[in-house]
Parts: sequence; C-alpha cells; structure tokens
Amino acid sequence: MLLYNTLTKKLEEFKPIKKGEIKLYHCGPTVYWTQHIGNLRGMFCADLIVRIFKYLGYQVSHVRNYTDVGHLTSDEDTGEDKMEKRARIEKLSPEKIAEKYIKIFEQDTRELNMLEPTVKPKATEHIQEMIEMVQILVAKNYAYATDLAIYFDVSKVKNYTKLSGQILEKNIQGAGKSEVSDPQKKHSSDFALWFFKAGAHQNALQFWSSPFDSKLVKDGEGFPGWHIECSAMSKKYLGNTLDIHLGGIEHIPVHHTNEIAQSESTNGVKFTNYWLHNEHLLVNNKKMAKSEGTSYSLSEVKKKGFNPLSLRYLFLTTHYRSKLNFTWKSLEASEKALNRLFDFMRGSRSEGDIPKCRLQNETQRPKHTQVIKNYETQFQRALENNLDTPKALAIIWEMIKSKELKDDDKKTALLKFDKALGLGLDKITTKEIKISNEVEKLIKQREEARKNKDWKKADELREEIKKRGLAVSDKSVG
Ligand SMILES: [Zn+2]
Repeated sequence: MLLYNTLTKKLEEFKPIKKGEIKLYHCGPTVYWTQHIGNLRGMFCADLIVRIFKYLGYQVSHVRNYTDVGHLTSDEDTGEDKMEKRARIEKLSPEKIAEKYIKIFEQDTRELNMLEPTVKPKATEHIQEMIEMVQILVAKNYAYATDLAIYFDVSKVKNYTKLSGQILEKNIQGAGKSEVSDPQKKHSSDFALWFFKAGAHQNALQFWSSPFDSKLVKDGEGFPGWHIECSAMSKKYLGNTLDIHLGGIEHIPVHHTNEIAQSESTNGVKFTNYWLHNEHLLVNNKKMAKSEGTSYSLSEVKKKGFNPLSLRYLFLTTHYRSKLNFTWKSLEASEKALNRLFDFMRGSRSEGDIPKCRLQNETQRPKHTQVIKNYETQFQRALENNLDTPKALAIIWEMIKSKELKDDDKKTALLKFDKALGLGLDKITTKEIKISNEVEKLIKQREEARKNKDWKKADELREEIKKRGLAVSDKSVG
C-alpha cells in the first residue's frame, strides 16, 4: 500500500506498527451546526480508508472524536467558543447544542453508508485526561502559565513546523493574532492548552476546575484548548503512536502541527507515522460559503430528490487529495451512474447477455475465474496506489461491460469490491432476494389462476403481491 504522507511529502510504502492492525485517528466535527457536504467529504475519506484497510484484511481501530468545547471561532485561539456562541443564538445549553448536532451528523453518516468508528469520544467527557497531559507538559517545562491561560511554548520543541514546513521566525499562519489579548504570552506562536475562565472567557458556559493557578479564578476554573483534546483522546484510545492520522488540509498549519508538538513532548515518542490530508470540496469552483447559500447540507441534497449515496459516488469519482468541484449537474451524473449499478445488481440472472459466438469459443477464452481474478487484482492495485478510487470505479465499469463473464460472477465480484467502496450494493440484493422469495410463490399461483381463467383469484393474488411492495402487470406473468 502506497500512501502520500504529508509529513515526508512523498508517497511511502505503508508499514503498520503491528502486523495486520491499523490505529487510525480522525479529527471529528465540532458539533455546533449541521455539517455541510464539504465536512462530510472529510468524514467519507476516513470511512474510505477504514473500509479499504478492512478489505485488505487489516483489523482497524478507528477513533473519531466530537469537539464539544474549546474550539474558538478562529482556529488561532481567538474569538468565542463555537459551541457557546451557537448556544446563545439558539437559546439552548451547549450540551443540548452538542446533542442536537451529533444526532443530525450521525444520521448523515448512516445515510452515506459510513461504518461506525470503534470509539467516538466527546471532548467534554475527557477533561481529566487533558488536564493530566497539560500537567506533564508543565512539569517538563514545555508549557507555562499566564493569568489567562496555560500556553504551550513552541520554542521548546525542535522542528515545531515539520508538518507544514512553515518558517517559525516569519509570522506563521496561526500565530500572533491572540498576542494582543494576553501580554504575558512569550512567543506569538504559543498556543493555549487551558483557558482560564477569565478575560475574554470570563462568561464561559462550560468550565471545569483544574490544578492550574491563576490569580483571576478560583480552583483553576477553565476549559481545554481545542488542540489538546485530540492529543489526549488519541492517546487514551490508541496509545502514544498512531499508524495514521487523518484530517482536512486546513488543519496542517495549526491544529495538527500543535497536536504533534503536544503529543511528542508529553510521550517522548513519534506521534503519527502517516499523516493523510483530504482536499476541499468546492461548489461551482468556489469555496463553499454560507453567505452565498452554497454550504449545502445532506438534507438539502435529499430535498432535491437525490439518494445520499449518489453523493458518496461523487466523492469516489475524485481522488481524496484533489479538490472536488460539486455542482448539481455532477451529482446528477453520479446518481445516474449509481442507478445503473443498482439496476445491474437487480438485473435478471441470465446468461443470454453473452453473445452466442462467444459461447462457442468457450474453450479458447481464459476461465472466468481467471478473468475475475484479474479484475480483483487491478481493483486492489488501484486502491493500494494511494487510494485511487476513480481508477477503481473505472475498473468496475470495465468489468460490468466484459463479455467474458457471466452476470452472476460480476455481481459476486461487485459485492466484494463494494466492501471497500460502500455504495450499499449489498442492501440492494438482500432486499431483492427477500422480495423474490416471498413473492415468487404468489406469482406462480397467479400464473396458474390466469391459465385456469380464474380471474377473481388472479386479482386477489395481484393484491397480495402488491401488498408486499411489488407491482405485477399481466405482461410479466401472462
Ligand atoms: Zn484533531
């Protein structure tokens, strides 16, 4: 498996820490609003990686957190807590805001056929772990206190910017903006590990006591910084070193850079072996914007009559490291393609699709098992080449068009491939089989009744069949 590693900026052969196992951490959503389809693309990328490694036979531990405190309106540690700002707007508590938007988010992930992560830790339920980590950083002299916050001292780590490649001496992205609000801060790039309930945050709605001292608050009351949350939760559930850490490219210069600094300074070992970052989703070739009404949610996609899985298909058509331009037209094309796949899965299991001349040459063509095997190899190779899903889809279509295979063999292969892609093809067939088993008998009885010109019984049976969700025309049974 070749993966592009943001840390080394090259394609690398993937080697797990433990043979056959993957420890994967993915920065989950800050649950203060409905995630737009751009956010959902990031979640899809994590799901894709999980599915592909499972397809390849790995056991995957996947942690995706919920940020429900400490993420300020600017990633640079300035502004209000996003949860609390929203809570004030909607006149709900931050807890209720989290509950509301987690529910919507989980519904969306189910509709996009994402697998459940192994653990979905909430930041507010891991405050103790965060405090312990900050204590270690203070004890090791990587962190210091002012009256307003505990800061991580970026000058104490070698290669603080190794992930982003930024030059620290120049005013790097993510630095300097909160300097003015705290004159005791040592270096403009130092970032907050713990905010005291003081100054700009004196009215914080969510806060906890801590062992840290500030003359402005009692019992060290405050709340954790956003970055320490991921360091503490990944350590708790996956240990000190992860195989893969995933997130959107916007997290490279600030959030992930800070996660590395905190985790490696606390644990004294490498934090993550492979850093993967997904590119953004654009709408009409522009950044999604609420003001322009283009930060679409999944429910808007559904309202327009689309199957959510069409969006998943659209995600698959573009490599995760490329920008994806969303348009309603491109979604329409994806829905068409997906429906063709569904139709193929539903199609009658006939061998009549294979032209006769080919059948006569049966002995001359490679055995169908070999043909299937070739497709499987090509499919796997595409996935192992840095998760090349557009190529994998192309191979699927080539296989469907192949004249060398029976439809049944193609369907079996598709079901296998779909374990990696997650388009829900398994659900199509299960449903169909259920219907046919149940209804087949009734259809036969109806045929019999029609033969005997027992129209009354035939009509009754038609109603019976209809009740089970299947319409029959006389043409199909006559
Ligand atoms: Zn994170």
